[in-house]
Amino acid sequence: MKLIRSSKCSLKFATDSKRSELKRVLTEYGRVCNIFIEHFWKNGTPSKSELLKETVDLPEGTWLSARLRKVAAREAIDMITAVKERWKNKPWKISMPVHKGRRALVSCTIAELQDKKDSSEFDAWLHLSSIGEKVILDLPVKYHKHINKLFAQGKRLNSYILTEKYVQLSFEIDTGPKKSGKNAIGIDTGIKALASLNNGSQFGLAIESCVERIKRCDHGSQGQKQARRAMRQRIDEVVKEIVKHFEKIDLVVVEKLKNMNYKSKLKRRLSKNMRRSIGTWAYRYWLKRLEQACETNRVSFRTVAPFYTSQTCPCCGHADRGNRVLQEFRCLKCGHAGNADIVAARNILTRFLTGVYGARYKPYETMFSFS
Ligand SMILES: [Zn+2]
Repeated sequence: MKLIRSSKCSLKFATDSKRSELKRVLTEYGRVCNIFIEHFWKNGTPSKSELLKETVDLPEGTWLSARLRKVAAREAIDMITAVKERWKNKPWKISMPVHKGRRALVSCTIAELQDKKDSSEFDAWLHLSSIGEKVILDLPVKYHKHINKLFAQGKRLNSYILTEKYVQLSFEIDTGPKKSGKNAIGIDTGIKALASLNNGSQFGLAIESCVERIKRCDHGSQGQKQARRAMRQRIDEVVKEIVKHFEKIDLVVVEKLKNMNYKSKLKRRLSKNMRRSIGTWAYRYWLKRLEQACETNRVSFRTVAPFYTSQTCPCCGHADRGNRVLQEFRCLKCGHAGNADIVAARNILTRFLTGVYGARYKPYETMFSFS
């Protein structure tokens, strides 16, 4: 399986004049991009391979090179396609995208990362040329732990996302074929424990204090930013903890959050649950990190719809709100009792295994313990 991973390198080591020059390039790039967007919006979007010279020459009064104009035209096409794809089921929401002139997606025609051999201060130069007006920019780049890891794991790709503050490098990583073994786990996300597994293990027990710290801070304040950073860090640590057990696992099932507002009944239930939970952005972040960890470790990642997972009895199937009282689960029908989050994790896994897509996983051994 091949994956793409990317990492940002700060451009803060460049001189002020280089950085203001870069800003000038990005601003003009955004302006040209918007000219293309407007044109394609009115006259139809060509395919990227159909970009003719006369189209590329369309923007008047720009100093950007033909090469960079072509890059801008391609990005304009991508942006239009993305908007249309995003709202394909709600076409009345489609509106013309606008490039803000803050970033550019450039390839080897414009940018080149050159290893630096002479000095130990920086690791590489990002060499930008063919921009127009004979502008050439050499921006110093320092690598960091994450990017060195990506260099070791995979092949660097020749495309860059360029902003005033950083350059983002991308890597292709080949993980080999997915594992096909016998172990699946269900994970429930909660506030008492970030992750509760169907086998009874729990991770991230301190997450509630992180959430409370965020809620205490004023919205958008520096303190809140810091608190969110701390929370992301905590989530990353929990993912790492779980990854340690991935040798024994080949399938992870979680509850999905996406499309949560497609039914008002579901929305109400979820919003009530969200108050007891870690918050939407943190939930998204957590699932994304978990999914990435699964990909890197050749573990399959699946989601199930979130319905009554914490109120249904895993033994007799009786679903009742009264089955759950805070963190305690006790079935009103058969008396089965346990930790509510772990019960939810078992239900999540069962929902997947008994569902349409879970059929081929049926022979999987689903109860096992980490030791
Ligand atoms: Zn029961």
